[in-house]
Amino acid sequence: MSAESTPNLMEAVVSLAKRRGFVFQSSEIYGGLNGFFDYGPLGVELKKNIRDCWWNDMVRRRDDIVGIETSIIMHPKVWQASGHVDGFTDPLVDCKVSKQRYRADQLFFAAVTVDGEVKGYVSALESEDTVGALQAAAESFKRKKAIQGTLAPVVAVEFTEATEAQIPLIPSPATGEPGSLTPPRAFNMMFETHVGPLRDSASVAYLRPETAQGMFVDFKNVVDTGRVKLPFGIAQTGKSFRNEITPRNFVFRSREFEQMEMEFFIHEDDDWAKWHRHWIDWCKDWLLSIGLPASHLSEYDHLKEKLAFYSKGTTDIMFKFPFGVQELWGIAARGNYDLGQHEKASGVPQAIFDETTKKKFIPHVIEPAVGLDRIFLAVLCGAYAEEQVTDEKGKAETRTVLRLSPRIAPVKVAVLPLLKNKEALTERAKELYKKLQRRYAVFYDEAGAIGRRYRRQDEIGTPWCVTIDFDTIEKDGTFTLRERDSMEQRRVTEAELLALLDEQVY
Ligand code: ATP
Repeated sequence: MSAESTPNLMEAVVSLAKRRGFVFQSSEIYGGLNGFFDYGPLGVELKKNIRDCWWNDMVRRRDDIVGIETSIIMHPKVWQASGHVDGFTDPLVDCKVSKQRYRADQLFFAAVTVDGEVKGYVSALESEDTVGALQAAAESFKRKKAIQGTLAPVVAVEFTEATEAQIPLIPSPATGEPGSLTPPRAFNMMFETHVGPLRDSASVAYLRPETAQGMFVDFKNVVDTGRVKLPFGIAQTGKSFRNEITPRNFVFRSREFEQMEMEFFIHEDDDWAKWHRHWIDWCKDWLLSIGLPASHLSEYDHLKEKLAFYSKGTTDIMFKFPFGVQELWGIAARGNYDLGQHEKASGVPQAIFDETTKKKFIPHVIEPAVGLDRIFLAVLCGAYAEEQVTDEKGKAETRTVLRLSPRIAPVKVAVLPLLKNKEALTERAKELYKKLQRRYAVFYDEAGAIGRRYRRQDEIGTPWCVTIDFDTIEKDGTFTLRERDSMEQRRVTEAELLALLDEQVY
């Protein structure tokens, strides 16, 4: 069985994440807090590895990108200039009866049209098959009301498009009855706090909803100190906070999450479309390099008419999650809007001088922005598999395996002495374990049958196990190297093991 054929893949992934200590609900002993998560011992390693791979590839291994780390709480004027105070909103709809809240752009409705006449409305929350759900609801509506005639195929409409006359007639998804949904209103997603001892309007500040503004606000500092020349990028990773109306799908959409963003500044006359394409390709290649299956990746170009006025183009790299194809990474060509806004609001010039044309200009920017927690979830969904295998005794069993790339696997190697009670074996195993530990996350396990120990490592995605047996200590010093995906075993020397790790873990 492959990942794709695992029934209820999402449930299986969430259950494994809890069972093996990847992700816990935040504040679980108090009933949890919706939209917040904790990362357990294996989760924190996996997340760190993804972040480190991104940092190494994006910053350290490129000559044209530098990194920074900016504060989470910034001057409130930053968020006025960026447009977030006025415009960082989602359309919110309340159900007055059930007190449920919905995002209007995730709530759909359709007219029930029989023999060309509208008989009422049905609604459904966005899902993998929104139209199917609306069609089924329309059929049930017609049946319940005993309406005769031919039902037209439904046309799904976003609730944001509902007219004043339609809103009172659209049923709430919570109650199934019309009359309780409010018109959509703009809900600002920024978390507010206060800075200093006084709690008044002058002390209001915000937890950042994105890391990007840090790069814009520090642009001049980096230019003046960093010996950078266009085109160049500034990158950072860090926590962002959004008071999402409907956090859902595990860590896919949470209220506290981590972003990895990079602002790539180019000359105003440079070919933005070329750089935009460069970064889309780079991001896709990078996702493949950490092991996401190519079959799950696609691109979505935002419609020109839906882009912000300053935007030249946005392409999302989409991932096929178990709950549908969703945005993973957004690559936006933002013109010089952000730096221009900060220049206007702060009065501090953001333009740089072009030695060739002797003109000053504000650079344009391409922004690849991704959520670390979203990649984490994509990685688990893409790697999870259940397979039918036969154990050493010839019995069929189901093996759960996480096919994680060695680059990001939380444990790279498990060191296993064949027997627990033979000191010569455990001593040699511990010696190897200590040596590997200096450079890699490794695990020592001497408890239980060797087959069971292999399975435990398969489930957490450890690419290799090495077993120290009698041949190791009595003959040539080689170990058995067992490969997770093929389950093949071969004998290797310590030097060969180190060379393998050096090549595959980078
Ligand atoms: P969405 O439409 O899914 O709300 P967005 O278009 O608002 O996302 P951006 O503002 O472009 O997202 O943020 C960049 C990236 O940050 C997204 O591509 C996503 O990977 C991640 N991200 C955004 N919101 C969340 C969230 N609530 N939880 C986890 N990751 C998020």
